Amino acid sequence: MQLIKGKGFRGGVHPPDGKELSRAKAVVTLPVPEKVIIPLSQHIGSPAESLVKVGDIVKKGQKIGEAKGFVSVPVHASISGKVTAVANFPHPAGKSLPAIQIESDGLDEWAETVKENPNYKNLSPDKIKSIIQDAGMVGMGGAAFPTHVKLSPPANKKIDTLIINGAECEPYLTADHRLMLEEPTKVLEGAVIVAKALSIKDIFIGIEDNKPDAIKVLADAARSYEGVKIVSLKVMYPQGGEKQLINAVTGKEVPSGGLPMDVGIIVQNVATVAAIYDAVRFGIPLIERIVTVTGSGVKEPGNFRVRIGTSSLKLIEAAHGFKTEIGKVISGGPMMGMTQYTLDVPVVKGMSGLLFFPQSEVKSYTPEACIRCGRCVAVCPMGLLPNMLGIYAELERFEDAEKIGLMDCMECGSCSYVCPSRRPLVHLIRYAKTDVISKRKKAA
Ligand code: SF4
Ligand code: SF4
Repeated sequence: MQLIKGKGFRGGVHPPDGKELSRAKAVVTLPVPEKVIIPLSQHIGSPAESLVKVGDIVKKGQKIGEAKGFVSVPVHASISGKVTAVANFPHPAGKSLPAIQIESDGLDEWAETVKENPNYKNLSPDKIKSIIQDAGMVGMGGAAFPTHVKLSPPANKKIDTLIINGAECEPYLTADHRLMLEEPTKVLEGAVIVAKALSIKDIFIGIEDNKPDAIKVLADAARSYEGVKIVSLKVMYPQGGEKQLINAVTGKEVPSGGLPMDVGIIVQNVATVAAIYDAVRFGIPLIERIVTVTGSGVKEPGNFRVRIGTSSLKLIEAAHGFKTEIGKVISGGPMMGMTQYTLDVPVVKGMSGLLFFPQSEVKSYTPEACIRCGRCVAVCPMGLLPNMLGIYAELERFEDAEKIGLMDCMECGSCSYVCPSRRPLVHLIRYAKTDVISKRKKAA
């Protein structure tokens, strides 16, 4: 094992991190909820298709939704009990979407399909990949991209490096930090399993310098793992963006429009590899995760291990409720998360945090014209011209926006964060992207 220093990346910002509210709070496992609502769409790609109907009895870990196509994953019951609805329910994505409601029988019994595998170190790469696919694994850092797709590069792409993303650069979130501190072996074993699936020898675990305890714990635990290097990274948002992480760890640049596999790299989040270990070693599909519940609006911020499908109301209860009237709720981090319009949404596989801010802290701004100060250009980690992308989007000159790299925008929000004219640059960019994507779909 080696401890090395990351190289940094272009641009980026330093928002106040708010992590002091919950970073010292050990993960608390919440009791089994009386009811869960498990959305069929918790990943990028086609939603899963329900395998159950109202009245069915299900066990914990049982597959209740089948993947529809390659870019899709199955979903599993996170408690045992009775299916009481297959219908549309509020989803953290801001819409009402199909989901399966299960009421607990209080037994929390495992499905027969969930079987331990003490000989997991002898599994073939293909078997590992199929276990990961069947377990409904997705990127748990927020993107929720199906993991098996990332682990299936075309034959002409040789992958030689695995980077485990422990940057957790989004302000306020501390779920990954606690996971690294409390379960470093799970993270390392999961990383080794992923590396074996693709015959990778070099494993880097990138962690921001604001988590020195996690760097130490993982560096100590990694002593007995050959080929694993811990990389301490400069604190800078969006250090955890795939392309920025690759750049900081290896110095390589993913080409415009390209993917990490184009430079021989795959990136997996720390929580994802820990969940992969559970799936491969114990046969447990992705049915729970750690969520940071924080923000100046809750009485006792903390990190909670909860079953997928648990209502966010249970998490608010676990954080001892609100201090005051809440004005803003965000699923994920404040930079890239989604504003919520109801307090009752289910925990999904990609939900790393739930943030609550008082009404008194929610400011509203009136956007003004661009004053061409160039601050957005200086901070853009993708080297884009966010000011021009915003102007082209406003003028509906989408093709011109596309020509200057619209689709390379990772929607990190750094440009909007620094803009003195409070221009809603990310919203404008998303608007332009929607048009370009729909035209591309039509053309295809
Ligand atoms: S243009 Fe996109 S990638 Fe660049 S700072 Fe803005 S949101 Fe981030
Ligand atoms: S930061 Fe705002 S005002 Fe300055 S150039 Fe960018 S869009 Fe214009």
